[in-house]
Amino acid sequence: MLMSDKKFDYWFGVPRKEIKWYPKIDPAACIGCGLCAVICGRGVYSYDLVTKKPIVAKPYNCLVGCQTCANLCPVGAIEFPDPQVARETARKNKIFVKVKKMLEEKFAQQLLETAKQYHAQATQHEMEMREIGKA
Ligand code: SF4
Ligand code: SF4
Repeated sequence: MLMSDKKFDYWFGVPRKEIKWYPKIDPAACIGCGLCAVICGRGVYSYDLVTKKPIVAKPYNCLVGCQTCANLCPVGAIEFPDPQVARETARKNKIFVKVKKMLEEKFAQQLLETAKQYHAQATQHEMEMREIGKA
């Protein structure tokens, strides 16, 4: 079985398999409720219906920094590395240069709309002032 899906091969340009961020399950603590397998939106888990235990089938699909399944596990059976690992990976790989560019791209339309609104408001205000001046 593949350890990840192709679309998750890179994280901000960093080969995902170089980042040791994925869940580990303590089988002794796990009660097999299946919540982790159901809620993970990235297909990290499969579930063994015979043993009634989840399996970390595609660890590198896990979103770097995410710990949702661990936060929700009712018995605390899921472990992740220290969050500092994710922070340090981000810092070491200088992802914030890419983040800045992505942020600008993502919100460019919003910035444009805001500028248009300001312009419309300023024009309206100017017209009102002219009307007052005429009166
Ligand atoms: S959420 Fe926790 S208890 Fe439930 S199956 Fe997953 S690891 Fe086991
Ligand atoms: S941390 Fe998030 S992405 Fe990773 S396995 Fe859990 S729910 Fe899925």
